[in-house]
Amino acid sequence: MTQVAHRSVYKFGGASIGDAEAIRRLAALLSPESERPRALVASAMGKTTNALEALLQAARKPDEASYRRRLAEIRHDHLAVAEALFGPGSPAADALEQRLAELDAAHAAHRKAPYPFHYDQTVGFGELLSTTLLAAWLNASGIPTRWCDARELIITDDRHQAAEIDWETTRERIVRTAAEDESLLLTQGFIGATADGAMTTLGREGSDFSAAILAECLGAAELTIWKDVPGLFNADPRRFTNARQISRLSYTEALEQTWHGAKVIHPRTLAPLQRRDIPLTVRSFLEPEAPPSIIGPEAGEGDRQPACMLRDDQVLLDVSPRDGGFLDETRMAEIFARLADAGLHANLIDGEALRLRLVVDHRPEKLDSLLAALAPRYAVRRQDDGVLLTVRHPGDALLASLDGDRTRWVERRNATTAQRLYPRAECPDSWQIPE
Ligand code: ASP
Ligand code: MG
Repeated sequence: MTQVAHRSVYKFGGASIGDAEAIRRLAALLSPESERPRALVASAMGKTTNALEALLQAARKPDEASYRRRLAEIRHDHLAVAEALFGPGSPAADALEQRLAELDAAHAAHRKAPYPFHYDQTVGFGELLSTTLLAAWLNASGIPTRWCDARELIITDDRHQAAEIDWETTRERIVRTAAEDESLLLTQGFIGATADGAMTTLGREGSDFSAAILAECLGAAELTIWKDVPGLFNADPRRFTNARQISRLSYTEALEQTWHGAKVIHPRTLAPLQRRDIPLTVRSFLEPEAPPSIIGPEAGEGDRQPACMLRDDQVLLDVSPRDGGFLDETRMAEIFARLADAGLHANLIDGEALRLRLVVDHRPEKLDSLLAALAPRYAVRRQDDGVLLTVRHPGDALLASLDGDRTRWVERRNATTAQRLYPRAECPDSWQIPE
């Protein structure tokens, strides 16, 4: 890691900058010059983004008392960290106050604007606050750091809350900014701006994606995402008692696992890295020396060994044409178009001659609109409260053991992937991958 550090991009998530101790630990990590990356992307501190979303709801209701209380809490949390780091009344605290005043003004100005626009003008303040504090602490710790405004680096369209990158302009801005000086470039994850300068966001958990954009545009040797876990696992360790860390896997395998519900990294993160063969390393900021997980162009043991993904609260839909006809291509196209219109994603697809079986997340409004759109031409049988298990690289014995004598509402399998939908009532709280 030492040789590539200065050509790499680091991303620190909310937990890794959640309090003064975490921020001190981060600075200590970067303290040897050989460990300093070219650029550092940070998310909001701890659970700030959730707090900002709640603040937004209060602003829109409007519920002035709740708005003031929530704003005061966000202020208190940040100033407490500033005080723990710098003592009372520091320039860093003044800089935070300034940002908080901007946040308050943004709410006042956009309270009546369409929701996605109002969201984007305010919820990204978590990153502006965290990086303001971080820049001050790194500079005070003798690490020359340049605070860069992501709104001047990541240029996007105006699809608020899910902005698309204008790659050409973004690349030009990042390359130009990096050429200006050698100091550590520190910027915010999650946010960008339109060409007109209106703040945009890249979707929740989007800071990983921001870091990948920086890495791609800088032609970085690697991207390191620092988390509170030592890497990627072959199942969610909170659900599977014997989940094991994966040391290496390919981009494509990581994309498959993400698609099936592995919550390792933001799904948009990998494409920019893959374009330039930039490896992604996932490490623990709590145990920086522990062996990491690496996602890269080559296959690793993660491409061969079984991996398990669970999705809770699933709904099974059995869709059949009312006229008793076959599910031909025209009808399939129609059903999938209605699914897309409703904004639902099929987590499992299983086709038969007279019946298409789909498993989707339990999203009440979206489901209602889908069922209403299908009703004139299709009969739909619905089954709630399912748990969807997806297994990559399964073997027969492994599947049999995972199934036990549980009911399987649906099962399908191809060369690389098996899926089963079980009734939730028959599923355990804690799972095991059969050895
Ligand atoms: N702070 C944003 C969020 O919590 C972005 C991120 O953390 O990646 O979703
Ligand atoms: Mg995060």
